[in-house]
Amino acid sequence: MSDTADVIIIGAGVIGAAVAYELAKQGKRTLTLERNAQAGHGSTAGSCAIIRMHYSTFDGTAFAWEGYHYWRDWADYLEAPDADALARFIESGCLVMKTAQNGMLAQHMKNSAALSCPFEEWSAEQVTAKLPIYQLDSFAPARRIDDPAFGTPNGGRLTGGVYWPHAGYVTDPALSAQNLMAAAKRHGARLRLGAEVAEILQSGGRVSGVRLTGGEEIHAPVVINVAGPASSKINAMAGVLDDMTITTRALRQEVVHVPAPAGFDFEAQGTIVSDSDIALYCRPEHGNHILVGSEDPPCDPHVWVEDDTDYNRDFTDQWTTQAMRYGQRVPTLGIPSKMRGVVDLYDASTDWIPIYDRASLPGFYMACGTSGNQYKNAPIAGKMMAALVEYCEGGNDHDTNPLQFTLPYIDTTIDVGFYSRKRPINEESSFSVLG
Ligand SMILES: Cc1cc2nc3c(=O)[nH]c(=O)nc-3n(C[C@H](O)[C@H](O)[C@H](O)COP(=O)(O)OP(=O)(O)OC[C@H]3O[C@@H](n4cnc5c(N)ncnc54)[C@H](O)[C@@H]3O)c2cc1C
Repeated sequence: MSDTADVIIIGAGVIGAAVAYELAKQGKRTLTLERNAQAGHGSTAGSCAIIRMHYSTFDGTAFAWEGYHYWRDWADYLEAPDADALARFIESGCLVMKTAQNGMLAQHMKNSAALSCPFEEWSAEQVTAKLPIYQLDSFAPARRIDDPAFGTPNGGRLTGGVYWPHAGYVTDPALSAQNLMAAAKRHGARLRLGAEVAEILQSGGRVSGVRLTGGEEIHAPVVINVAGPASSKINAMAGVLDDMTITTRALRQEVVHVPAPAGFDFEAQGTIVSDSDIALYCRPEHGNHILVGSEDPPCDPHVWVEDDTDYNRDFTDQWTTQAMRYGQRVPTLGIPSKMRGVVDLYDASTDWIPIYDRASLPGFYMACGTSGNQYKNAPIAGKMMAALVEYCEGGNDHDTNPLQFTLPYIDTTIDVGFYSRKRPINEESSFSVLG
């Protein structure tokens, strides 16, 4: 007899696992199909796992501020037995430099204030009191190291920043996906590892299941695409690309790990910093290291990847560019000859805002296009997807009458149409990983 479920979830990354947990809590018989040997070992494993609240749109800010609370209350949210090894959330705070590029953060502060999300404005002196290794010359625009003007200050200085004290990061993102899967299983969810979806099945004008590589068919009236950087492949298999104005593509990223300068304990005293003057973000990393990622400035080429399983996993001169650019801010930074860090893929959407939506094919849903900035939102995205499935399967037309969804912790209602696959490109977006 062939396997069946109420809902098939494709992908056991942090968002897929959260979707499984939330649907299983509703009593749905879920089956998660994951081609890897373990949950959380897709792009989730490469994530910097930064939990921050500053987004350029109001909806993005509301979602992220809501999202923070689940990491704060992780064990309670999972109803985890004491024996579970849980991922840890370190509430290190996040400092964002005020720059002309981000409009001196006026919109970000407005969004946070409207949502009672705490933040503090810091002077340049407060920034260097927190981070004595920093010097605040301005270098904008961000450049590559082969630019003759690289490393030359432009004569201006950063005047300060905004600090969000509740921001932080999760120490082991793959473990957090496994925590979610374990919680889902306690509610009856099933996970099949080494199960790769090769085809989306349809019958009677709606989705009816999937076929795995190897030929096995599994039937379910609802299928959810949470395949991360493989999302566009799965959407193509389902034949649902035609009515989408927002599409998704795999984008290669390098993250640098460097030791903190001698004499400063960045792991204990540091903070997350987003610095659009040099187009980098950083956060403390275990072993008194600093992890440095790019904020996708125009000078850095976008390396789109056709096949999410076959791309260059070696570091390139992008690693060196990011490390040297960070050295502009931290002149005592030592740059080791051995490159360490992460090479992984974003599932970037057209406007760098995710798609949480149904598809043109009835019964088929997608949580994708997470654009390097949705790890933090996994639990609330899972909750919202579960509500969306219930809404649509209950006969509502989400395309014409979008679900209104209340974010439980912050008691704010959002229009889920904000995340529609058919939305116009959102011009308020930063069009970068900042969302
Ligand atoms: C370098 C990097 C840094 C990031 N930093 C941050 C950050 O600091 N903060 C933040 O909020 N977000 C960050 N993100 C984004 C965040 O990590 C992602 O949005 C999130 O992890 C996506 O989770 P997911 O479950 O959707 O996808 P994934 O974790 O990619 O999971 C998708 C799963 O689907 C499986 N799959 C694919 N195709 C198939 C198939 N055909 N059959 C079966 N299984 C399949 C894959 O094996 C994979 O396990 C970062 C991402 C990267 C790459």
